[in-house]
Amino acid sequence: MTATINVRNPRTGKNDYTITPPSASELALRCTQLREAQVAWQENGVEYRISVLQKWKEAATRHKTSLQEALIHDTGRKWESILEADLLFSSIDRWCRLGREFFTEQASKPSHVPFIEIRQDVQPFPLVGVISPWNFPLLLSLIDAIPALMAGCAVIVKPSEITPRFVKPMMQIIEEVPELASVLVYVEGAGETGGTIIQNVDLVCFTGSVATGRHVYKAAADRFIPAFLELGGKDAALVFEGANLDHATSSLLWGSTANAGQSCLSVERIYVQQSIYTDFLEQLTAKAQKLSFCYPDIDTGKIGPIISEKQVAIINDHLHDALQKGAQILTGTGQCEEHGGGMWCFPTVLTNVNHNMKIMTEETFGPILPVMPFQDENEAVAFANGTIFGLSGAVFAKSHEEAHRIGLRMHCGAISLNESALTAIIHEGEKQSFKASGIGGTRMGAAALKRFVRQRTFLTKVQNVVSPWWY
Ligand code: NAD
Repeated sequence: MTATINVRNPRTGKNDYTITPPSASELALRCTQLREAQVAWQENGVEYRISVLQKWKEAATRHKTSLQEALIHDTGRKWESILEADLLFSSIDRWCRLGREFFTEQASKPSHVPFIEIRQDVQPFPLVGVISPWNFPLLLSLIDAIPALMAGCAVIVKPSEITPRFVKPMMQIIEEVPELASVLVYVEGAGETGGTIIQNVDLVCFTGSVATGRHVYKAAADRFIPAFLELGGKDAALVFEGANLDHATSSLLWGSTANAGQSCLSVERIYVQQSIYTDFLEQLTAKAQKLSFCYPDIDTGKIGPIISEKQVAIINDHLHDALQKGAQILTGTGQCEEHGGGMWCFPTVLTNVNHNMKIMTEETFGPILPVMPFQDENEAVAFANGTIFGLSGAVFAKSHEEAHRIGLRMHCGAISLNESALTAIIHEGEKQSFKASGIGGTRMGAAALKRFVRQRTFLTKVQNVVSPWWY
């Protein structure tokens, strides 16, 4: 368990960093310390927690550059790393605001028995474990941790072993705020460390693949602790006659290829009404061709490297499978390319695709745009919903009302109307993942705080009467 893990650099392909996971007993000890510190964290109240989180934001702002540099090193891309750090700062403010609203004291209320009054409060789960993936390493390590802290929990975070370089600067930032350092700890490690965390916490928030999510859910069930799972997707976009094609193609190009397609909420299937199919493909292809890699200069181009080596194999397999089954390639080379030791995938527009291909049914997690025609609305909706996943989707139509009407028929948790992948930017809308894309309450919006507390009721007899149900 304490064996060192080598970490690959996505731009050079070389192992240039190592992490050493804690032993199971070290991890258990840290969890005990976190539990001890959580008592005061909860008792000191919401205004105290807000003031500490604000100090953390100030410390993070002072060290923003070192955090961003580590993230860039982790992921090989720059623009998205800057965005991740910025989203962290704005989310601290948002949770402080929502926390204050959520924790306003509730007045007593009468029950249906006239002499019994009800008072309620909420009790945080003492220790929350967060296990996160590599595609947005900083953002996804904190997306559940910040509301959990706000709710009064202590938190232990285990980010992905594929992108752990940001952990060191983040720990330094946290250590500058001792009140926070006692209730927020990052640990490095891979699956085994994730498994040990589940054995030591009271609630687990997991973001990652469906396959690992299944293990996590079973391990949590064995301990009777809640598990909130945010898993993979195969998001569909539907483009109808009457939609603005210039706008739709620009939006979908971004929605499919931002972060080189390495987003759970990337658009991975595009269905276009037959009557506009040719025009749509022409516009999309022309725009995709203009994109370029952020290589050799990280400051140029839009498409970063494929961060995980394992993902390169999956993208290549899906492309190979599609091309072998008759897909036609309009942009890209049909496989990931090696440049300077890193692996890169050019935005790939595919046509002549069908649902016997992995590229249309399994999560690819790359900048691939398979486009398929549909005849009518019923067929479009059936295509979109014909998947084990239910994360998000998009509808482009002649008006927002029409897009909304069609969106109501989609079986997923967030639907962008005349835009795509908007949950990458907007985190306030409450939403849940459908089907294999996840389980549990919303991680966005005020209701997300409810996941981290248990509700408690106090029942008081307010009149000195004989209770009629007594013997
Ligand atoms: P992954 O499932 O391989 O790993 C995720 C995390 O789980 C890592 O920290 C890993 O070390 C840990 N882990 C592995 N085995 C474990 C075990 N047995 N017990 C406990 N922890 C274990 O996923 P990944 O490849 O890092 O991330 C990509 C996946 O994440 C994609 O499927 C993507 O769609 C999904 N994702 C989902 C969302 C969302 O919000 N729904 C967001 C981002 C990514």
